[in-house]
Amino acid sequence: MLNVLNFKCDGLRKYLEENKFRGFKANQIIDWIYNKKVFDFNEMTNLSNVERKQFNDILKIELPLIEKVQKSKDGTVKFLLKLVDGNLIECVFMMYEYGNTICISTQVGCAMGCKFCASTVNGFLRNLELCELMGQILVVEKYTRKKINRIVLMGTGEPLYNYENVVTFIHEMKSKMGMSNRHITLSTCGIVPKIYDLAKEDLNINLAISLHAVSDDKRKTIMPIANKYSIDQLIEACLDYFDKTKRRISFEYLLINGINDGEDDAKSLVSLCKRSKAHVNLIPVNEINENDFKESKRLKEFYNYLLDSGVNATMRQKKGVDIDAACGQLRLSYSK
Ligand code: SAH
Repeated sequence: MLNVLNFKCDGLRKYLEENKFRGFKANQIIDWIYNKKVFDFNEMTNLSNVERKQFNDILKIELPLIEKVQKSKDGTVKFLLKLVDGNLIECVFMMYEYGNTICISTQVGCAMGCKFCASTVNGFLRNLELCELMGQILVVEKYTRKKINRIVLMGTGEPLYNYENVVTFIHEMKSKMGMSNRHITLSTCGIVPKIYDLAKEDLNINLAISLHAVSDDKRKTIMPIANKYSIDQLIEACLDYFDKTKRRISFEYLLINGINDGEDDAKSLVSLCKRSKAHVNLIPVNEINENDFKESKRLKEFYNYLLDSGVNATMRQKKGVDIDAACGQLRLSYSK
């Protein structure tokens, strides 16, 4: 039986027509699921009883199940979701002045091996399917009873290594839920050829690059992907993305004590930002048990240096610190 959540809009219409239903039934089902958050054909009151039964015979609406919910004092809600095959993923709901934001996972586990990150500790298992990407949004909107205005693909996994499903997901978010692409941010550790591909997709989403170090040598010590693509190659790809989409790039820069928070680092980061017209999002590293990285003691100095040098920089507001809300920590603590 096919899961409705794996269909694109036009695909569902075609499938229903092939099964002798009228095509507009697809719009009705999509409206129930994506706008009204009704996930049971029997509750779709503009379908006849006969249609409800027929749809139940050929289709299912299968969402990830909520395994665990953690609520922070600041309104952040972290979800541990169980997929049909029993695998666990995380997503996080956050409230900001500019709207409700969800951070979603794109893979089960991660193969990238970044030394500071909890998502990668148990390696990579598989890509998430369209229904599982969509499912995170639907489950969270239903649970919180709040409309999500912004999506960041910044949870577990490398979105550009689940390229096709992620691109389809972004298209479908627009057609099914009216989500503006300007409100979607994809974060990548820097898969250079895929950045060029993404620029050609006519999606115009925001691109965030997990930079975290400003020399190739230093980057290699914390991010294995740096052995494959140099910072120069990455910057070229970012400039191409900016050129084609006119969307400004942002660099994510974790501040780790004694590793990348020195004066030289700040200086090189300034010239890199000027060269690539990028904005910087400084992030105090979340300390996890699996490594010895500690939060930088120079957060303020580093931040002020960037601002004084004319770089457009922000310091990420910490959300959900009381609930292990960072990057794979909940899933990891659950799998022990
Ligand atoms: N693979 C993608 C998306 C997932 S990581 C990428 O690399 O961008 C999302 C963001 O969380 C990245 O910027 C990543 O570097 C950051 N991150 C990972 N571990 C962290 C930690 N311990 N503390 C703070 N941020 C972390």
